[in-house]
Amino acid sequence: MMRFRSTRSRQPTLGLSEAMLTSLAPDGGLYVPDSFPEFAAEDFDGLESWLDIGVRLLAPFFEGDPLEAHLGEICGEAFNFPLPLRYLDETTAVLELFHGPTAAFKDVGARFLAACVTRLPGRRTVLVATSGDTGGAVAAAFDGRPDTRVVILFPLGKVSPRQQRQLTCWGANVRAFAVRGDFDDCQRVVKTAFNERAWADAQGLLSANSINLGRLLPQTVYYAAAGLWYLRRRRAAAGFVVPSGNLGNAVAAFWARRMGLPVREFALAANANRAVPDFFGSGRWAARPTVATLANAMDVGNPSNAERLLDLHPDFEELRGIARAFSVTDVEIENTIRGAAAASPPEVWDPHTATAVVARSRVESPHWVVVGTAHPAKFESVVEPLAGRAVEVPASLAELLHRPERFEELEPTFEALKAALGG
Ligand SMILES: *Cc1c(COP(=O)(O)O)cnc(C)c1O
Repeated sequence: MMRFRSTRSRQPTLGLSEAMLTSLAPDGGLYVPDSFPEFAAEDFDGLESWLDIGVRLLAPFFEGDPLEAHLGEICGEAFNFPLPLRYLDETTAVLELFHGPTAAFKDVGARFLAACVTRLPGRRTVLVATSGDTGGAVAAAFDGRPDTRVVILFPLGKVSPRQQRQLTCWGANVRAFAVRGDFDDCQRVVKTAFNERAWADAQGLLSANSINLGRLLPQTVYYAAAGLWYLRRRRAAAGFVVPSGNLGNAVAAFWARRMGLPVREFALAANANRAVPDFFGSGRWAARPTVATLANAMDVGNPSNAERLLDLHPDFEELRGIARAFSVTDVEIENTIRGAAAASPPEVWDPHTATAVVARSRVESPHWVVVGTAHPAKFESVVEPLAGRAVEVPASLAELLHRPERFEELEPTFEALKAALGG
C-alpha cells in the first residue's frame, strides 16, 4: 500500500484517502508520496486518451486504499473534457488545459478531489481562499454534491467580474463570501479556521487549495499523457514550460518525470513575483512580498509548494540540471499577447500562458511543450484591448455568465466567518 509522509518528516504515516482528508500535515508540512512507482513509456502502449493513461498511472497510488475500487469511476468523472496537445511548429507544442467547466487548468485537480472525497463517508466543509481561479474550479467541482458544503472567501472588489460570477453563481451548497480585505486576509482567515482544531474537526474541514495532495496527483496525468503523445509523434522527449505561481502545477510535472515518464526538463515561468527565479539564481530560498501583475493567478510571493519541490530535489545542482526559471514582466506579457494576435496565423494567449510563451523564447533547445493554463476569454479585460478584438467565450463558460450571483459580505476575521456559518 502506498504511504504518504509530511515534507517535514521521514516517517510515512497516512494512506491516500487520509492524506487528502487531512489536507495539511499536523507538523505544518505538505503530504508527498513516500516513494514513486516507476514506469517506462512502453507501459502505456495501446493507451491513447488522458483518461486511460491516468487510470494506469494512478493505480499504484490507490492500491490498498478505500478508494481503490473506484479509481476508474473517479478518473472517468474528473478527466472527461478535451485536453488537446496542439503542435505550433516543428519544435513547440501547446498543451491546452483550459477546456473544463471554468476554463482554467485547476478544473482537473478540483474535479478529481471532489470525485474522491465525496466517495468517502462523512459530512464535509470545503474551505477555500481564492484570488480568482481556484474558487471557481472548486465550486464547480463540488456544486450539488451531497453531504458537502463549499465556503469560498474572495477579496471584495478585487476579482474580475467574470471571475466573481464563477465564484457566486452556484447552488445551495456553495456559499461565497466577499471579504472586506485583500487576498492575504482571506488566506489568514482560512489558516485560522484550520488551526481552530475542535471547530475544524466538527465541520469536517477540507482544504481545496493546492496544498491538498488530491489536487496535485491528478495533475501528473496530463504531463504523462502529453509527454507520451509528444514522444510518439516526434520521437523525442519534450521539455515543459510551466506558468507558475504556487508551484502546484510545476511539482506535478516534476513528479511525472520522477515516475519515468518522457518529460525531459522544465522551464518555470513566473511573472514579476521572483521568488522562484531568484532561488534558481542563488540557491537560497526566500519569500517575497506579493506584487500584483496581469497574470494575477500567479501573484504569489511565497509559493507553498516550494516545500514539495525542495523535498523532491534537495540537491540544488541536480535541480538546476533539469530546470530553469524565468521572471516575465507585464510589459513582456502585453507585447507577447499583442504580437501573437497580429501574427499569422494569429494566436490569442491569456496572460498566464503568455508568460510561458515568453519563457519558451528564452530556451534554445528544440522540443518544448508550453503549458496553457487558462482560456483567454477568462481574462478578457486584459486580452481584448491588446489583441484588438473580442475573444469568443467557450460554451461552458458562457452558460455560467448568465446565471444570477449570490454572495454575502464578510469582515476579515475568523469570528465573523464562524458566526456566518452558524457555529
Ligand atoms: C493557478 C494558476 C496558475 C499557477 O498555478 P500554480 O499551481 O499555483 O503554480 C497559472 N495559471 C493559471 C491560469 C492559474 O489559474
